[in-house]
Amino acid sequence: MESTGKTALVIGGGPAGIEAAVKIGQAGHDVILVERESVLGGRLNLLAGTFPRNEDTSAMLANSLRLIEESGKVVVKTGTTVVGGQRDGEGFRVSLKQTADDTVADVNVDAVVIATGFDYFDLSAYGEYGYGTYNGVVSAVEFEGMLKGWRQLGYRQNIPKAIAFFKCVGSRDRSKGYPYCSKICCMYTAKQAAMVKELSPTTACYVFYMDIRAAGKGYEEFVRRAIEDKKVRYVRGRPAKVIPDAGRLLIRAEDTLMGNPIEIRVDMIVLAGAAVARKETVELAKMFGAKTDEYGFLEDDGMSPVRSADKVFFAGGSGFPVDIPGAREQGAAAAAEVIALFSR
Ligand SMILES: Cc1cc2nc3c(=O)[nH]c(=O)nc-3n(C[C@H](O)[C@H](O)[C@H](O)COP(=O)(O)OP(=O)(O)OC[C@H]3O[C@@H](n4cnc5c(N)ncnc54)[C@H](O)[C@@H]3O)c2cc1C
Ligand code: SF4
Repeated sequence: MESTGKTALVIGGGPAGIEAAVKIGQAGHDVILVERESVLGGRLNLLAGTFPRNEDTSAMLANSLRLIEESGKVVVKTGTTVVGGQRDGEGFRVSLKQTADDTVADVNVDAVVIATGFDYFDLSAYGEYGYGTYNGVVSAVEFEGMLKGWRQLGYRQNIPKAIAFFKCVGSRDRSKGYPYCSKICCMYTAKQAAMVKELSPTTACYVFYMDIRAAGKGYEEFVRRAIEDKKVRYVRGRPAKVIPDAGRLLIRAEDTLMGNPIEIRVDMIVLAGAAVARKETVELAKMFGAKTDEYGFLEDDGMSPVRSADKVFFAGGSGFPVDIPGAREQGAAAAAEVIALFSR
């Protein structure tokens, strides 16, 4: 395909950035897709499977890489970050640094899509849960990696006999500075607990929750199946304290449905920490004149849900925590805006 003479820079090679890059490339425009890690995929590389349809993330990623290749328009720069950017005439002049050898090269682009994803809250701020102090207290991100190992490598004998999942850790908590709901953790917690029961039906799984937020196609049914078919026990209440107890972990909580104080002993606790804005996203926003909200997530300009400033678009978790289908939809929406801009 001949060049249209227009180039978009997409920053971040997770599901949102890949979707944007593929769609812009398929429309015949040149794309530079910058990813700071050595491979594309973002958090797809981490996941043991997906809610609600248990898709294979490796196959999902392989399909996206094939589309990138077939477009013939997307130049992928892994191991690369954006170290400078400014408006220059009708477009932008951007400095890209290769982390392997620290070399910096400048490129001119006509539009920018920021798709840098979200980050995670520092769980050690919840001292009473013992993250970083007690053996067996892990983050949901770390646990996803364990699940992946158990599922793919078959180390099922390593699966603990009892696991508790704590939701809303940091989220919906004004005292920690994150009063919002992180949107995806109700679903990935149900997925993680259900996967444990599939791999090890005798493992007891407890989910401590305040609410169950499962808005999405097939999401409510997915959580119901975890509770009713897989026998994951949901306990309504916020755990008050975790105490190490003869090699296990004692959880003190109140079951707010029954109105009883309860104590449960488990071997592992998984903390679903708040999703927070990445520091780098805030820096990129300053560079390109994009708007961020009070938490550091990118914000739209009121004219389009995926535009933050003139010729600067965003997609996925850089705007707010979102699941994979949502990240891909936003990537496609940002691409549609770039294509419309380039056709003017
Ligand atoms: C434990 C856990 C389980 C989950 N399970 C599911 C599930 O089952 N189903 C589901 O739908 N969703 C799930 N999610 C959510 C899913 O991970 C996100 O929806 C998805 O990753 C968002 O895609 P994204 O492209 O916005 O961000 P990411 O996947 O985070 O990709 C962003 C990319 O940008 C790169 N980047 C960041 N900063 C820079 C920079 N300055 N320069 C260059 N590159 C940069 C990062 O390295 C990364 O590759 C889960 C999340 C977690 C934490
Ligand atoms: S998605 Fe669920 S677990 Fe996550 S903050 Fe919202 S209510 Fe809590």
